[in-house]
Amino acid sequence: MTKRGAQVHFKGRLVLIGFGVVGQAVAPFLLRHLGLKPDRLKVVNPSGDRTGIAAELGIEVIAAALDEGNHIAVLEPLLGKGDFLLNLSVDVSSLALIKLCRRLGAFYLDTCNEPWGGRYDDPSLPLSRRSNYGLREEMLAFRLDKRTGPTAVVTQGANPGLVSALVKQALLNIAADLHVQVEPPESYEDWAALAWKLEIKVIHIAERDTQISRQRKARGEFVNTWSVDGFVNEGLQPAELGWGVHERHWPTDASRHGFGCDAAIYLRQPGIGTRVRSWTPMEGPYHGFLVSHAESISIADHLTLRKDGEVVYRPTVHYAYHPCDDAVLSLHEMAGKNWQLQHSKRIMREEISEGMDELGVLLMGNPKGVYWFGSRMTIEQARELAPHNNATSLQVVAGVLGGMVWVLRNPDAGLVEPDEIDHQTVLEVALPYLGEVTGVYGDWTPLKDRSDLFDEDMDREDPWQFLNFRVS
Ligand code: NAD
Repeated sequence: MTKRGAQVHFKGRLVLIGFGVVGQAVAPFLLRHLGLKPDRLKVVNPSGDRTGIAAELGIEVIAAALDEGNHIAVLEPLLGKGDFLLNLSVDVSSLALIKLCRRLGAFYLDTCNEPWGGRYDDPSLPLSRRSNYGLREEMLAFRLDKRTGPTAVVTQGANPGLVSALVKQALLNIAADLHVQVEPPESYEDWAALAWKLEIKVIHIAERDTQISRQRKARGEFVNTWSVDGFVNEGLQPAELGWGVHERHWPTDASRHGFGCDAAIYLRQPGIGTRVRSWTPMEGPYHGFLVSHAESISIADHLTLRKDGEVVYRPTVHYAYHPCDDAVLSLHEMAGKNWQLQHSKRIMREEISEGMDELGVLLMGNPKGVYWFGSRMTIEQARELAPHNNATSLQVVAGVLGGMVWVLRNPDAGLVEPDEIDHQTVLEVALPYLGEVTGVYGDWTPLKDRSDLFDEDMDREDPWQFLNFRVS
C-alpha cells in the first residue's frame, strides 16, 4: 500500500463479520487506517479458516455462521460501548445487528441491507417484501424515534455508498462548469433544488467492469469479481428504480408499493433479467442490468422536492451494471436454467490478467450533455495500492473507509444512509483508493444511433424517458 488517506485513531475493538472478497480486502486497511492492533480485530466467519490473510495479519477468526438464534450470543461478548461492528457478510440481517449495536453502544456499518438468509427467493412473499424498497422502509420505520445514539450507517460500500457522495460532487461540478452560483447545500432539499435547477432528469449508476482472466468461465460455473451469492441474491429481487416526475410512460409490468416514501417503483421481473441502455466514457454505449440496489431508492428519495405536499421534482435513478464479461456469460447460462444458480462459483482475484472497473454516476438532462463522474480503477492500480484486492473490491474498500471515518467523527448520529453523511469526508478518505477519478461530458442519449431496422416503442420528443432506456 503506497498512498495514505485521512487517518483516525480508533481505540475500541472491531468485529468484522464475513471474510470474503470485501472482508479480506478491507482487513489490512483497518489495521493501518484506524491504527488498530491485530488483537483488537476479530473476524466472525462460518468457515473459521485461520490461514491465508488472517494468519498473515495475525487476526483471530471465530468460526460461526450467524443466524437469528445465535447472533446475540456470539456477538455480545465481543462488543461494548465505543466498539465497532463492520458487517461484510451475506444473509445476515442488518436490522438485527443494528438493534444489537444500539443496545450495546457500538458503532455499525455495512455495505448491503440484508435480511436473514434466503428471503429474496421465497415466492410465497409478495414482491414488495422481496424488494430493497421494503427492506429500506422497515429500516426507516425502526429509526423514526432514533435520530441520535451510536452511529450506524447502512449500505456504505461503493454502490450503494460512495456513489451518493459522487452524485453530490457531480452536481457541484456541473454547477461550477455552468457558472451557476450556489450556496453550499446543507439539507437534502438544498441538494434536490440544485439537481432541479441543473435540469437533471435521470441518474444512472453506470458501471462497466472489464476485468478478465485467462481462466475463462467453465460450463456450470458462475464467475464474478465480487460475491456471487450477493450478486445473485440482489439480482433475483424485482428490478427497482427511483421514479422521476418527468416520466410519462408507465411500464406495463410496473407497480407502486402502496406504502412508505413512494420514491421508487418495481418491475415484476428480476433485475438480472432487465437490461437498460447506458453510457460510460471508456466503454461508450452499452447494455447494463437494472439490478435492484439501495441507492436507486435512497438517492431518488433524497433528491425529491415537495411544494405544498406535492412532489415537484425527483429524478429517475437506477443501476445500469455491466459486470465482467464472464459474469454476463454466467447470467446468460443461469437465465437459461430458469435462474437456478450454477453449482460451481468463482470470484476472480489473483487470476485477473487485465481490465478495469469503471464505476460512476451518470447525470442526464442538462443541455450541456450527459455527465459521468466516477472512478476508473485498473487491476494494475489496485494491485499497486493494496494486496488482496481486485479493482472492484478496492472501490468498495474506499467507500467503507470513508464511511467508517465519518462514523468515528460523528459518534452520536443514530441510524443514517450514505445520502445523509458528509460527502466531503467520504471523498477525502476514499480518493487515494479510487484510481483515476474524473468527470466527463458526452453527447450520448438513449436515442442516439438507434437502429431503424425494426419498429420500436420510443419517445423521440424526450430522450430521458425510461421507455427509451429500457431494452425490450
Ligand atoms: P463474499 O461472498 O465474498 O463473502 C461473504 C462472506 O460472508 C463470506 O466470508 C461468508 O462465509 C460470510 N457469511 C455467509 N453467511 C454468513 C453468516 N451466516 N454469518 C457470518 N458470515 C457469513 O461477499 P463479498 O463480495 O465480500 O461481499 C460482502 C458483502 O458486501 C455482501 O453483502 C455484498 O452484497 C456486499 N457488497 C457491497 C458492495 C457495495 O459497493 N455496496 C460491493 C460488493 C459487495
